[in-house]
Amino acid sequence: MALIVQKYGGTSVANPDRIRNVARRVARYKAMGHQVVVVVSAMSGETNRLIALAKEIMPDPHPRELDVMLSTGEQVTIAMTALALMELGIKAKSYTGSQVKILTDDAFNKARILDIEQHNLKRDLDDGYVCVVAGFQGVDANGNITTLGRGGSDTTGVALAAALDADECQIYTDVDGVYTTDPRVVPEARRLDKITFEEMLELASQGSKVLQIRSVEFAGKYKVKLRVLSSFDDEGDGTLITFEDDSKDTSMEEPIISGIAFNRDEAKITVLGVPDKPGIAYQILGPVADANIDVDMIIQNVGADGTTDFTFTVHKNEMNKALSILRDKVQGHIQAREINGDDKIAKVSVVGVGMRSHVGIASQMFRTLAEEGINIQMISTSEIKIAVVIDEKYMELAVRVLHKAFELEAE
Ligand code: ADP
Ligand code: ASP
Ligand code: MG
Repeated sequence: MALIVQKYGGTSVANPDRIRNVARRVARYKAMGHQVVVVVSAMSGETNRLIALAKEIMPDPHPRELDVMLSTGEQVTIAMTALALMELGIKAKSYTGSQVKILTDDAFNKARILDIEQHNLKRDLDDGYVCVVAGFQGVDANGNITTLGRGGSDTTGVALAAALDADECQIYTDVDGVYTTDPRVVPEARRLDKITFEEMLELASQGSKVLQIRSVEFAGKYKVKLRVLSSFDDEGDGTLITFEDDSKDTSMEEPIISGIAFNRDEAKITVLGVPDKPGIAYQILGPVADANIDVDMIIQNVGADGTTDFTFTVHKNEMNKALSILRDKVQGHIQAREINGDDKIAKVSVVGVGMRSHVGIASQMFRTLAEEGINIQMISTSEIKIAVVIDEKYMELAVRVLHKAFELEAE
């Protein structure tokens, strides 16, 4: 007997038929003698609908109230899934985040899980119940409802698997695994049988929405066996997220590039002409960080006149907030010549552990983009990733030509 956590995304619970389909799969696992915890997202489109509804009342909705609204999406699907299981004669019980007690910090709309109480779930599992837990939501120390950021149900699934010491966490979605890039953008993309945690972490952090980044972090940290599978297809092993096998000579047999990620959700902020002196980066980014705004890429360069240009990227939703902080609180100290925002950018990244042992990947990437006349605005690298910021309108073209240049297509 194994303990398995199965997470089903929005398209997998989009209507009663699909929820019945989920229940049938859970029933098969129960029939094999396993204990099953099910985590569900809201029906596809529901979270977007709720956000739009909130914005009709308040254009920039109060974060606490927004979370109260957003959590309702998952509350509907947990009950529907529990009902569908009952209809199959299976004991099932739904749990909201606060009923489990998935304790989070109080960063509304992007809360982090701090602790998960296992007692009630364990008791119900031992009594033969399937526990159906709402993804994406938790509760802070003061009893406020919180949500974990878009795509957060993946993180609920993996965090529960870690807390319960589950044998496997299965992420069921609308594709049958992790591909070399989003198959919606490049139909020739190829499914990977396995991918390392590190690569998956880079792909997720660079914008591959197939897994939320925090879910991959949890899985790596707590050694959760994680697999991505299709909820529409009963065959196939999907993609297993693995630990890098040090004993293997990766330079010989593994592809150098595993995947390409892209992200249209970032905006670029440029602070031009600030004095080049110690403390400038801190003066600019300190207040941004204090406002809990995540900064991704950062570039600083010194011009011939001795002043510094400072460029960084933030989530599009936070561009205006970051700009107001800079204009209202920072500009007075740093006397920048100009502060601009640009949300018409996209980031494209190539990822692969093989980069550690191969040179020339960056130049191949830059040449490929140059041949298409695509201008690179920013570059950042890690040991296993090269990311560029380009004009949003060239994003799909860039992904397609890079996918081809690195020979990632299906044979
Ligand atoms: P769910 O609602 O099940 O959580 P998501 O829409 O969040 O599903 O994630 C699945 C989607 O991720 C796929 O439909 C696909 O378009 C997209 N995707 C992006 N990059 C990849 C990739 N490298 N491999 C597979 N799917 C990807
Ligand atoms: N329903 C939430 C969202 O749409 C969480 C999730 O689906 O993972 O972002
Ligand atoms: Mg998702």
